[in-house]
Amino acid sequence: VQGPVTVTVTGAAGQIGYALLFRIASGHLLGPDVPVKLRLLEITPALKAAEGTAMELADCAFPLLQSVDISDDPRVAFDGANVALLVGARPRTKGMERGDLLEANGGIFKPQGEAINAVAADDIKVLVVGNPANTNALIAQAHAPDVPAERFTAMTRLDHNRAISQLASKLDVPVTAIKKLTIWGNHSATQYPDLYHAEVNGKVAAEQVDEAWLRDTFIPTVAKRGAAIIEARGASSAASAANAAIDHVYSWVNGTPEGDWTSAAIPSDGSYGVPEGLISSFPVTAKDGKFQIVQGLEIDAFSRERIDASVQELAEERDAVRGLGLI
Ligand code: NDP
Repeated sequence: VQGPVTVTVTGAAGQIGYALLFRIASGHLLGPDVPVKLRLLEITPALKAAEGTAMELADCAFPLLQSVDISDDPRVAFDGANVALLVGARPRTKGMERGDLLEANGGIFKPQGEAINAVAADDIKVLVVGNPANTNALIAQAHAPDVPAERFTAMTRLDHNRAISQLASKLDVPVTAIKKLTIWGNHSATQYPDLYHAEVNGKVAAEQVDEAWLRDTFIPTVAKRGAAIIEARGASSAASAANAAIDHVYSWVNGTPEGDWTSAAIPSDGSYGVPEGLISSFPVTAKDGKFQIVQGLEIDAFSRERIDASVQELAEERDAVRGLGLI
């Protein structure tokens, strides 16, 4: 990658934004030699807080950071963007119906998709972090018809990293011993972390653990880790979410290592029975700035059921935003 690369971060004054921006500016998003221009998008009431973060970015005197611009206008913030990290979203509040949540997020991701379509760079890559991430990505994509569909992705890398860490700890091996882990489906409680294709020191992971642990401990622990961290910290897992966003884009831009893959929610081409167009998590490799779904994996009955359930949820979310006229 040659620089400078323009990176737009939405919700930049939030918790994830605070954990993300300093690592982007220090070269972890793209690589240690790539100059970066940061664009921070915030809603008007949060502009002052974003200015405070920009002051701290200046105070780090990062050699790679060429500029920081702040705006509450997507047409300004996405102008010339090469990478867009869509972090700001409307969280579900108590008593909120799913339809209200999707509608509120439609009000955010539709104009952002339109702005990306109109003003972003031709090579724009979009990662949606703000929840419901897969469906927010679908909304943004629907309003950017001139951008190749595969440039819209959503984050399941945090779930992927959590699954690797849980498995490594269970087997008392370093995280580097684990390869080919997959998160399938939606970034939600229905996600399916797959140990049947994962390898531990070259051996099938599912064969190294007992089935009861895999089904009754591992899967729910990974899926509910966010809630466990809120319970322990009294605040959400913003730093690990930011770290995963960095990992996702780094893999996308710089490629995945030979003999391994990662997990990302990308538009389905119909692989593994996932309806075409749904932004669903798959085992993916990355090369030359493109994600590709790993092909040819055999899916056992247990995995099939889990994948289908999560994909069904994604299809329902898609139908709901379609019903609201958001896509
Ligand atoms: P966070 O920075 O903690 O979270 C932002 C989004 O990321 C939420 O939708 C959150 O989903 C999601 N997320 C995904 N994974 C995780 C994870 N592991 N842990 C926590 N969050 C995760 O929220 P803040 O409230 O601190 O900040 C949001 C900022 O976005 C605010 O500054 C707000 O002003 C801004 N905003 C900007 C918009 C814009 O630029 N147009 C629009 C809307 C908001 P979940 O809710 O499920 O935790």
